[in-house]
Amino acid sequence: MRVAVVGSGPAGFYAADALLKSDDPRVEVDLLDRLPTPWGLVRLGVAPDHENIKAVSRAFEKTAARPGFRFFGNVEVGSTVSHEDLLELYDAVVYTVGAQTDRQLGIPGEDLPGSWAATEFVAWYNGHPDFQDLEFDLSHERVVVVGNGNVAIDCARMLALTDEELRPTDTTPEATDAINEAGVREILMLGRRGPAQAAFTPPELKELGELAGADVVVDPRDLELDPASARALEEDRERARRNFEVLEEFARREPAGKPRRIVLRFLASPLAILGEDRVEAVEIGRNELVEEDGRLVARPAGETEVVPAGLVLRSVGYKGVALPGVPFDERTGTIPNDHGRALGAERTYVAGWIKRGPSGVIGTNKKDATETVEALLADARAGKLARVDSTRSLEALLDERGVNYVEHEGWQAIDAAERGAGEPLGRPRVKLTAWEQLLETGQRKITR
Ligand code: NAP
Repeated sequence: MRVAVVGSGPAGFYAADALLKSDDPRVEVDLLDRLPTPWGLVRLGVAPDHENIKAVSRAFEKTAARPGFRFFGNVEVGSTVSHEDLLELYDAVVYTVGAQTDRQLGIPGEDLPGSWAATEFVAWYNGHPDFQDLEFDLSHERVVVVGNGNVAIDCARMLALTDEELRPTDTTPEATDAINEAGVREILMLGRRGPAQAAFTPPELKELGELAGADVVVDPRDLELDPASARALEEDRERARRNFEVLEEFARREPAGKPRRIVLRFLASPLAILGEDRVEAVEIGRNELVEEDGRLVARPAGETEVVPAGLVLRSVGYKGVALPGVPFDERTGTIPNDHGRALGAERTYVAGWIKRGPSGVIGTNKKDATETVEALLADARAGKLARVDSTRSLEALLDERGVNYVEHEGWQAIDAAERGAGEPLGRPRVKLTAWEQLLETGQRKITR
């Protein structure tokens, strides 16, 4: 059986691995990606100073070494090849394309220059080839980061890292210089709900208190809980409780006078981003929590203030993007599915963020992809996947269309070039960040 897996992030690799381990039926997997490089957010999303999280890529390379695996980079489904093309070439298609855009705040001034989606900032410092021309003006004293998730924490921390902390990472040299030279003194993180409802996780929060070049500041008054939050916290033994303990410890600290500070504020929403031609300030409204359908939600409490800021990073979640010819639920930003079987699309499956929405950690995708592959293999065994008797191959189609695709050996050449460039600098790698460089290097077969 031949299966195309589209999207080579964690969900794609976990799906490929589960498929390649199958004996009944035996499966060959072509893993496609619109980028010339694999690993998705492990390469281009995970913060560069979290090298230990990126170590999961070693498992991906083991999958890539399994018989029956092939990688095709620089192949975009929807433009280079269509969903219908894939259905002609493969017995089944698994979409693991993640969530490629950001959620919007829907407030005035959101589109002013200087207001960015956090995803753009993350893609820039990580060397994503589509985001290298962006110019983040880091000359202003204050940056406002909107949101209380781990991506907001990543952005705040990256802006606060010192040269010594950045140098041993694979942050692009351009981003390293820009952060080093930044005039930023304060990174203000805004959580619309309270400290007991924050989405970030305790280890990530704790890290903010361990930075060489930044103090972390929490106003003890922000930790005074309403009765419903206090009750919720008492019942919680995991994330919320531990987050709260870390925040209490931050609130007890005296600032050490480090060059930058990260200020965490709660029950605070941006109401408008203000400025003539670019971001100059943020109007912030104080919130209170009210119970709605068993959930505590933020509602404006009336008070507002205007805080000067030169840069705003909106970090309020990712959102999936529709694929031409594949059903899509605009509201959830996912492909509607039943345990990974796409609804209303033959021989089509989904795993990862495009299946369940943008939540969980990298490992969450393993269970998620395994469930999908079990459904796919069960369908195959039940004879529901009419075997495609195709004499055509993806590579023949790509050659016909003049596509300069990158195979796994090509990626290995990119990987070797990047690691080689990083070595003398004490960095894990210096990424190739231009499409031409990536495609050119990716055409070479590795020689060891
Ligand atoms: P997230 O965890 O869903 O957090 C989104 C945050 O945005 C929440 O605090 C949410 O608040 C807030 N928000 C949503 N709409 C808002 C609005 N209109 N105004 C103000 N705030 C708003 O999303 P994420 O940070 O993008 O992370 C995505 C996933 O990747 C998460 O599962 C995360 O844990 C994971 N991740 C993990 C790591 C790591 O392990 N180190 C690093 C990065 C990302 P409400 O709760 O009030 O909705």
